[in-house]
Amino acid sequence: MKKNLRFLSALFISKTAMFTQKLFGMNASYFPGKLAIKLCPDFLGRIDKPETIISVTGTNGKTTVCNMIIDALTANGYDVLSNRAGSNINAGVASALISGCTISGKAKKRVAVFEIDERSSKLIYPYVRPTYAVCTNLFRDSIHRNAHPEFIFHIISESLPKESHLILNADDLISAGLAPENARTYFSIAPMNTDLPESINIINDMRICPNCHHTLDYRYVRYHHIGNAHCPSCGFASPESDYAALPDFETGTLTITHHGDTEQYPLVTNSIFNTYNQVTAITLLREFGLSAGQIREAFSSLNIVESRYSSETVNGVEIITHMAKGQNPIACSCVFDYVKKEPGQKEIILMLDDVFDRIASSEIMTWIYDADFEFLNDDSISRIIISGVRCEDYKLRLLLAGVPEDKLICVSKEIDAPDYLRFDGTDKVFILHELYAADEAMKVRDKTAARLQNFEGRA
Ligand SMILES: [Zn+2]
Repeated sequence: MKKNLRFLSALFISKTAMFTQKLFGMNASYFPGKLAIKLCPDFLGRIDKPETIISVTGTNGKTTVCNMIIDALTANGYDVLSNRAGSNINAGVASALISGCTISGKAKKRVAVFEIDERSSKLIYPYVRPTYAVCTNLFRDSIHRNAHPEFIFHIISESLPKESHLILNADDLISAGLAPENARTYFSIAPMNTDLPESINIINDMRICPNCHHTLDYRYVRYHHIGNAHCPSCGFASPESDYAALPDFETGTLTITHHGDTEQYPLVTNSIFNTYNQVTAITLLREFGLSAGQIREAFSSLNIVESRYSSETVNGVEIITHMAKGQNPIACSCVFDYVKKEPGQKEIILMLDDVFDRIASSEIMTWIYDADFEFLNDDSISRIIISGVRCEDYKLRLLLAGVPEDKLICVSKEIDAPDYLRFDGTDKVFILHELYAADEAMKVRDKTAARLQNFEGRA
C-alpha cells in the first residue's frame, strides 16, 4: 500500500498527539494509534514495518510469552519494537508502529514483537503480516467478548496470512489446528507423572472430534483439554511435536528435545502453566535463529514480572501475590489448583473484581460456574477472605463448591481484606488478584506485611 496524503496527514497528526501526550507524562500507547486509524482506516497497511514481525496471541500466557521473547532478544543485542505495556488491539499496534517510524513513515527497527488480542487479529493480520505467529492456546474466556473457543479459532484461522510461520501448542487440540495450510512448528510437554487419565475440571472445551464428532480418547490430561488425545473413529490426533520439553521442578531444569538433540535451560517457574509459556518462548526463539546457549544465558537472569507473581516472607509467613484473571475460568482454575497443591497451611485473599471498571466486570458472572472453585475446598486452606463489590457472588460459588461457611469472610473493599487474616498456624497468605487489580493487590500485600510485622501471636 502506498503512502498517500491521507496517510501522511494521519501520521503527522498522530505523531504530534504522541509527542504532546509524552510531554505531559501521559501514556501514549493507545490514543495516537486510535486517532491514526480514525483518520486513515487502512493506516496499518500503509505504515512501514520492521522486516521481522513476531506476533503472539492465544487465551492464556500471551503477555508472559511476549515479555520472555522481548527480554531474550534484547539480552542478545536486538533492538525490539513492541506494544509491551500498551494496548494489544489495533490501536495499540498502530501506536507502537507510530513510535517506531520516522516522520515520513519509515521503520526505524528491524524486529517487532506484538501481543495481539485474539478478537482483534482480523483487524491486524491483514495489514501487519507476521513472519512468526505464535498461538499459546485457546480456551473459553471473557464470554461477553469472546463467545466460545470455536468462534475465536475461526477469527484467527481465517485472518492469518498464508506466509506466516506458526508456532503452536501440540498439547492443545484447538489451537493446534489453526490455518492448516501454513508452515508450522509444534511444541509440547512430554508425559509427566502428574498427568491424569481424564480431565478433572468442570469444563473441557475439546471433548469431541472436530472431523467426525466421535468422543475423543485422551492418553493423558494436564488441565482442561491440555493433553494428548486421538479420535478412535477417524484417526484425528494430537500432532507430533518438534520441541518436546520435560520440566524438572526439583532441580529447576527444563530439558528440550529437538530433532534428536537435547538442550537444557533453567526453569523460570514452578507451575506447569508457566512452563508452557517458557517452552512457547524457547520454541519461537530457536526458530527465529537464536542458539540454545544464547537463550539459556538470557533465561538465567529472567524473572516473571511482579505484577503477575511476587513472594516475600515476613515474620515466618510467606506472602504470595498471584494473578488470577477475572472472567477467565481456565486461568483461575489453574491458580486455585496450584494454591491447593502448595505445601503448608494457607489463608487466601480473593480479589477477582476489576477495580477500575466495576460495571463491565460485574456484567456477566457466569464464568465463575466454569471455574473450579472446588480446588479451594481443602483442609490446607483455613480461611478465604473474599473482597470486592461482587463478593457475595463468589461466596455463593464457594459454598456450592462445598467450602464450609465459617471459612468465608466477605469484605466489599479490597484494602480491608488483610484486617481479617488471623495468622492462626498460617504458613502462607495467597493474594489472588484480577489483572486490573494488580496495583490494589500490591497495597493489600503491603498492608498484610505491615500487620505481620507487628503480629506477636505466632507460636
Ligand atoms: Zn474423528
